[in-house]
Amino acid sequence: MTRAIYLDYAATTPVDPRVIEKMVQFLGPDGVFGNPSSTLHRQGMEANNAVEQSRQQVANLINAEPDEIIWTSGGTESDNLAIKGVAQLYADRGRHIITSAIEHKAVLDSCLYLETQGFEVTYIKPNAEGLITPKQVETALRPDTILVSLMHVNNEIGTITDIKSIAEVTKDRGVFFHADAAQSAARLPLDTKTIPVDFISMSAHKMYGPKGIGALYARRNPRIRLQPQIHGGGHERGIRSGTLPTHQIVGMGEAAHLVAYKRAEDSEKTRILSQDLLHRLMTIERVSVNGNRKHCIDAIVNVSISFVESESLLMLLPDIAVSNGSACTSASVEPSHVLTALGIDAETAYSSLRFSIGRFTTEEEIHQSVKQVAEAVYELRRLSLHWTAYP
Ligand SMILES: *Cc1c(COP(=O)(O)O)cnc(C)c1O
Repeated sequence: MTRAIYLDYAATTPVDPRVIEKMVQFLGPDGVFGNPSSTLHRQGMEANNAVEQSRQQVANLINAEPDEIIWTSGGTESDNLAIKGVAQLYADRGRHIITSAIEHKAVLDSCLYLETQGFEVTYIKPNAEGLITPKQVETALRPDTILVSLMHVNNEIGTITDIKSIAEVTKDRGVFFHADAAQSAARLPLDTKTIPVDFISMSAHKMYGPKGIGALYARRNPRIRLQPQIHGGGHERGIRSGTLPTHQIVGMGEAAHLVAYKRAEDSEKTRILSQDLLHRLMTIERVSVNGNRKHCIDAIVNVSISFVESESLLMLLPDIAVSNGSACTSASVEPSHVLTALGIDAETAYSSLRFSIGRFTTEEEIHQSVKQVAEAVYELRRLSLHWTAYP
């Protein structure tokens, strides 16, 4: 069986073999399988040491302190904990939240939930290229605003938000700022000592670690409290209960450690492959790029191919893993909420493809995939009345 060409790194990344090697040491009867809370015996103590070392590795990735890292089950939970956790504890200060129309569903749905609980939410609209400016955030701020939540890098179009300037605005106004860094943690440097952001969501499976583990950075100085969303044994200083999954945590720690010293190399490789990919895609007739190619990460390339429905296209290409819209909403037939927010019409949105590349992508895979896409596009257009009518 030939393996599919994987160009969907924004949906999830494979686990780096070095991370797997580390994780299996924390599972079996000969490994460090103890409960990290059982610190009265050796198995527990060793597990606890591993958890704390991993906490340090994740903290290092964003230049934070280990006691500012809270383990969660992933990016979705981190987003929920930051947004609902702040809103519920600081509701007496105000009930207004600012986010954007192009956030991940974990943020949008947390905000929608809070709207049912008496909070008001402003959804900033990006410009036609998907950019959100510090000025827009400043304009949206109100005396009763308690939280701004924006993603660092958009998962569909790859655009980068200037979170440093936004954090400076929110800090000035005494408003908390949460940044969803699920897409950026492996790709862009992030420094909590120079960016006054209060919360950062991270997800291990977007950075060559395992699924089901993530972290929330929560600034300690000044101390910000959070309303726990999961109650139980009081783990993670009472903020997030549940037995710590040692193997998942060391997986995320090792993944963060690898990113810290492989990021420059990964980025350079990605930059070259991405240029090649874009260049080849543009040789197909009537292809347009979605988003802004200046303020974006190289790893995500989103294009629309006129007169071709991406769903039909993907059905012709079962051996190429790319995405149409976002994986999370594939159950619905709505066009992508991100592309729609950019003012892109439904037809163009339905003809969009997201390519995302990463650490294990090869030049050959780029060549092969664009070649096959071009052939499938040709086939579909040959059968399309609209295309044949097009001069
Ligand atoms: C993947 C992703 C999430 C969700 O993370 P999970 O670990 O899959 O729950 C949240 N935000 C963004 C921007 C993402 O890309």
